[in-house]
Amino acid sequence: MIIIKTDEEIKKLREGGKRLATILYKVKEKVAPGVSTKDLDDYAFKLIKEMGDTPAFLNYRPEGASFPFPASLCVSVNDEVVHGIPSKDKVLQEGDVVSIDLGLKHEGLFTDMALTVPVGNVNPGALKLLEVTQKALEVGISAAQAGNTVGDIGYAIENFVRSQKSNQQYGIVEVLSGHGVGRAIHEDPYIPNFGKKGKGVKLVKGMVIALEPMLNNGTKNVTLDDDGYTFRTADGKKSAHFEHTILITDGEPEVLTKFR
Ligand code: MG
Repeated sequence: MIIIKTDEEIKKLREGGKRLATILYKVKEKVAPGVSTKDLDDYAFKLIKEMGDTPAFLNYRPEGASFPFPASLCVSVNDEVVHGIPSKDKVLQEGDVVSIDLGLKHEGLFTDMALTVPVGNVNPGALKLLEVTQKALEVGISAAQAGNTVGDIGYAIENFVRSQKSNQQYGIVEVLSGHGVGRAIHEDPYIPNFGKKGKGVKLVKGMVIALEPMLNNGTKNVTLDDDGYTFRTADGKKSAHFEHTILITDGEPEVLTKFR
């Protein structure tokens, strides 16, 4: 069921999104060689608590998972695509790329955001992957207009990625997608990062959705680790992930998780 948010809910989502962006940018600044992925999670948790809010992913149990997610922040390094579990034994190295994905519950309402960050000096190909993925998110957001469909968003992202003139291959991860968000961390509709113009659910004013293209520096194929959470590229190449929570309006979509 697709939930149209009330004005009161939108106000809270706007404030939650602002807080989430503030926190995630602070965590981003902490990314450096020698920092463990658990350090990043601890810091995110501390910042959320200081604001009086709740981490959305901590103890979240997706369907089929054998244990609840044990952290606030998903931290996915290099070939890990999404949902990496933070660990004190996993220490960032110069040249890595690290995706940080955080969900925040503020006054009962959820927002969701992710960034991929270079660790120290990173090779140009990896930087380009991050740039193309971030641009793919922006292109998807531009297509998220009332009257358009979920397929229009997927088409816009796919078309942009395919148009990249590069000697690198970009695989769009297909088994994971964007989603509605707000009263829960995952709501209908699901929003693939590929699609056909005019197909799927129609976007209407008051819908709140999280768009999150995941691009691999190789094929689209991914595998799931034994932990039941960590998705990684099947070919071992790097992956990137950018995500915003946005509000569908009469005009341009409003990015609720914009850093302000
Ligand atoms: Mg999400």
